[in-house]
Amino acid sequence: MDLGFTAEEEAFRHEVRSWLEANLPSEWRQGGKGGYRDEEDADLQRQWQRRLYEGGWLKLGWPREAGGSGATPVMQAIYQEELAQAGAPGILGRLGVTLLAPTLVAHGTPWQKETYVEKILSGELIFCQGFSEPDAGSDLAGLRTRAERRDGQWVLNGQKTWSSGAHYSDRSFLLARTDTAAEPHRGIGFFLVDMKQPAVEVRRITQMTGGGEFGEIFLSGAQVEDRDLVGEPGDGWKIAMTVFGFERGGLAQAARFERAVAELASLARDRGAGADATTRQKVAQAQIEAHVFRLIGMRNLTQAQHGHAPGPEASVVKLYWSEMDKRLQETAIGIEGMYGALAPESALAIEGGRWQYAWMWAQAETIYAGSSEIQRNIIAERVLGLPRGR
Ligand SMILES: Cc1cc2nc3c(=O)[nH]c(=O)nc-3n(C[C@H](O)[C@H](O)[C@H](O)COP(=O)(O)OP(=O)(O)OC[C@H]3O[C@@H](n4cnc5c(N)ncnc54)[C@H](O)[C@@H]3O)c2cc1C
Repeated sequence: MDLGFTAEEEAFRHEVRSWLEANLPSEWRQGGKGGYRDEEDADLQRQWQRRLYEGGWLKLGWPREAGGSGATPVMQAIYQEELAQAGAPGILGRLGVTLLAPTLVAHGTPWQKETYVEKILSGELIFCQGFSEPDAGSDLAGLRTRAERRDGQWVLNGQKTWSSGAHYSDRSFLLARTDTAAEPHRGIGFFLVDMKQPAVEVRRITQMTGGGEFGEIFLSGAQVEDRDLVGEPGDGWKIAMTVFGFERGGLAQAARFERAVAELASLARDRGAGADATTRQKVAQAQIEAHVFRLIGMRNLTQAQHGHAPGPEASVVKLYWSEMDKRLQETAIGIEGMYGALAPESALAIEGGRWQYAWMWAQAETIYAGSSEIQRNIIAERVLGLPRGR
């Protein structure tokens, strides 16, 4: 494992930091608040995306032949870490930028690349992800939304759920079954669906945070032209696997957790809870876990720098950070005592209710991008070689 950075990497870090100082206004910087809350957040996230795009940051890790900067995995990690340390907000088109655009570069037709990629990066087109269904989440291959060829185009019927940002998205990258006779993993197509057509209805789902970040999508004869099918009609599963390959964590999360632990310690001091033995143990444990997480990130980064694609160990990362964050947020709520039970909007809530809000968000972290149970199954089977469970 390589724990140091080269002079060139340190110079790059300085470049990122200087750019952030000049371009990230202090009122846009966030303290611990995650996710999307309301329309105000959407506007800020849209503006921030545009600024990053114009600064040339959104293609940092892309190969030069695809118009990117060809930055090494270490440089990409440094960039992410600096964003996290500066408290940069999210970007509105996160799913399009991080998942769809690189997938289109890998699998899209020249028309799809030309039509969509720059618009996705600039924020001109916002995409949501339409994979999950009411009966197909962890078992995604069980999806039932149908895509049929009719009059020279595709007609989609079915229901999607938990689609983040569906209510403000222009389009969706969506999986639908093109062949019901084929095996579950085959006969699935990967479509780019216009969300603004009358045959598509979005119903927002209110979360326990009070926000309505995601929604259900009802497709009642939604139309998709052939040119908006990515790959062949039965390639959807393979393309979805490319999408999942871009869902990674790393040093940015380590930086976020180190910040969160420092804020947790400060909360404990402010609330006079630092002298309590159990609280002290928990805060110290959080510090140790954040440090271990950084070391895991450095190990994976060293492997990536040597050209090794992340394997099942990506499950260790996802499982570790999501479970660790839940413990950290639980500790914070415990420190707040009865104030921790207040709604975040309450006038009496400590620090503007940010810890309650973060605690509620943390509950989702062990579900999305592969639940903890699914990650443990992968680790048991593919890392430890245990037999498949029944
Ligand atoms: C905040 C958030 C944002 C999301 N955004 C999107 C999005 O933008 N687009 C999208 O398509 N989806 C999105 N999702 C959905 C997410 O992908 C699914 O929630 C996830 O795949 C789990 O599926 P499920 O909810 O159907 O739960 P299920 O798969 O029904 O699982 C229910 C429980 O059973 C357990 N379980 C399931 N199978 C097994 C097994 N084989 N062994 C052991 N335990 C098992 C699970 O771990 C879980 O505890 C989002 C979810 C969240 C929470």
